[in-house]
Amino acid sequence: MSQNETKTIVIVGAGQAGASAILELRANKYEGNIILVGDETHLPYERPPLSKDVILKPDETRIEILSEQKLTDSGVQHICDNGVVKINAEAKTVELKNGEIIAFDKLLLATGGAARRLPNFDALGKHVYTLRNLEDSQALVPVLQAGRRIVLIGGGVIGLELASSARFKDCQVTVIEMGSMVMGRSSPRILSEFLLAQQRLAGVDVRLETRIADCKLEDEEVVITLEGGEELRADAVIYGIGIIPNAQLAVDAGLNVDFAIQVNENCQTSHPDIYAAGDVATQLRGNGQYGRVETWENANLQAGIFARHVMGVEHPTPNPAWFWTDQLDINYQFAGDMSANEWQIRGEMDAAKGADNSFVMIGVSEGQVVAGITVNAAKEMRFLKKMISKNTVFDADRHLDLTVDLKKVV
Ligand code: FAD
Ligand code: NAP
Repeated sequence: MSQNETKTIVIVGAGQAGASAILELRANKYEGNIILVGDETHLPYERPPLSKDVILKPDETRIEILSEQKLTDSGVQHICDNGVVKINAEAKTVELKNGEIIAFDKLLLATGGAARRLPNFDALGKHVYTLRNLEDSQALVPVLQAGRRIVLIGGGVIGLELASSARFKDCQVTVIEMGSMVMGRSSPRILSEFLLAQQRLAGVDVRLETRIADCKLEDEEVVITLEGGEELRADAVIYGIGIIPNAQLAVDAGLNVDFAIQVNENCQTSHPDIYAAGDVATQLRGNGQYGRVETWENANLQAGIFARHVMGVEHPTPNPAWFWTDQLDINYQFAGDMSANEWQIRGEMDAAKGADNSFVMIGVSEGQVVAGITVNAAKEMRFLKKMISKNTVFDADRHLDLTVDLKKVV
């Protein structure tokens, strides 16, 4: 459909993908109506600082993606605190919580995900927290105080970033992880071991392959019984055990959903005028499989794909998938295929040096560079991305020699 035929685009979800879609639509000269419907009370904001700077520097951290002024200047009608409760795919309308019906020509579902719940902990009623939105993050500020005993359940990105923030606040921190690795869903084992060593060096008690048998409240303490019988006592428990995509609207509307909303390479769902982007979407890949990527960059990327497809503009070949995490004064950036067959280290990896480490990891499969990780070496990331995009043949003599600039090998 050309721009002239698209009169009204409704975006459901005023988060990363929703906000980014607005910027991309206007950048691609879309001149029709945009209605942004959010169920939060805020202007669209970035989530990455919620586990880091919003907790550590609440007064100086700005997270807004689009200001009121920018939304007005972009001619966007922003409806907040009034989410969509129903989609009528046939009539091409959405119904809001307050009963209002809005018609659309194109619809973008950018509803993100919700923290996966641990009902037995939620049932305790107090001293139990999780983290997905701004209110969750703000609630943690008074909880993370010096000397407090904090148990984090889940050694994923939320668990490790919060462990880092809690240690910066001098809390006593324990992480309970069911699997045999920290950040096991997104990091190769060799880096996971480094991440684990950093947490332990900083005084975090990380328990791997550890399962919880029971939890209860006792005199304002949460008592956690581990399988095996050991009891841990905490002033607060924060869990981060993954997300559930907010896909129920799509299920009810009869769209194809397999845990997340299935979209094609253009981010179209099984209804050609309904798109999905960000954490809620699972996209068809070149290998015929669907894949979901829960990162800031992917939300922006898919929002751009949606906007360009609506405008009939071709989208450029995307860069290799990329994300970052900041933990204990170390910046980690990841690009490409984290399941690479082997990892080569450029520089020195010495866990004992903590935040003084600075090195690059090159992921190689069948002789080619397929992935890269920088550890306190962010400026090398763009060269690694280029090496991955160009299917560079790995050359140990040049790629691991610190006297050879990576810039020169791409
Ligand atoms: P969101 O940004 O979650 O936005 C979805 C919005 O839709 C929300 O406002 C939600 O309330 C709203 N919504 C849901 N249902 C409805 C409805 N029915 N009607 C209206 N509105 C609705 N990624 C990185 O790459 N690096 C990081 O360092 C990093 N740190 C993170 C730290 C935290 C604490 C969290 C939670 C995430 C972090 N991420 C990070 C991941 C990244 O923020 C997400 O991948 C990204 O926000 C996904 O964007 P999204 O638009 O799909 O979802
Ligand atoms: P996650 O990265 O998927 O990690 C969840 C971890 O919890 C996994 O290691 C999982 O182990 C473990 N786990 C699951 N159930 C458990 C249980 N009952 N007891 C103990 N451990 C358990 O999810 P997350 O850390 O909760 O993050 C939530 C979302 O925020 C994700 O979308 C994530 O991408 C995003 N986020 C991203 C960043 C970043 O990119 N820097 C930072 C913060 C948050 P198994 O893998 O073995 O199941």
